[in-house]
Amino acid sequence: MGKEVVYLPLGSSWRTQLYVDELAKAALVYGLKARMINISFPLSADSFDSSRGQFNALILLDYVGRLKRDDNLYMGVTAVDIFVPEMNFIFGIADRDRGCAVLSVARLIYAQYESSSSILKERVLKEAAHELGHLRGLRHCHNRHCLMSYSNNLAEVDEKKPSLCQECRSRLS
Ligand SMILES: [Zn+2]
Ligand SMILES: [Zn+2]
Repeated sequence: MGKEVVYLPLGSSWRTQLYVDELAKAALVYGLKARMINISFPLSADSFDSSRGQFNALILLDYVGRLKRDDNLYMGVTAVDIFVPEMNFIFGIADRDRGCAVLSVARLIYAQYESSSSILKERVLKEAAHELGHLRGLRHCHNRHCLMSYSNNLAEVDEKKPSLCQECRSRLS
């Protein structure tokens, strides 16, 4: 396994660049360095589902897999809303075998009325670290405060701490 997490902005990059510090912290949870690529990669037209008005996460995940150049972990970061066919939306998706993932900040920063940007940034940190956990072989955790707890909404994201529980930590090789 590589020693680094490579973050690729998918689509317009200005919004994802705002979270570069949080993305670095997410990698640090696993003792990994992080690098944000400074150019943005265009979203392919075939990844947009016009009937849903959302982007297909599986197609974006495959896209990141094809952009991957080495055995580091690759995560596409996007501000567009993403989905998988059986769900209304997802925060992120990971393919452990290929070592790549996609994270969308769209729903994490959805609540515009929230004045504190620190809570928004912490959500990005937590969900990026969650997907990295899958890439490191972790499954969902029953502990609602653990990073690997599955979140279906923002309240559940906010309930998590930006760290792994003891059990998940011990599962990391
Ligand atoms: Zn998950
Ligand atoms: Zn856990």
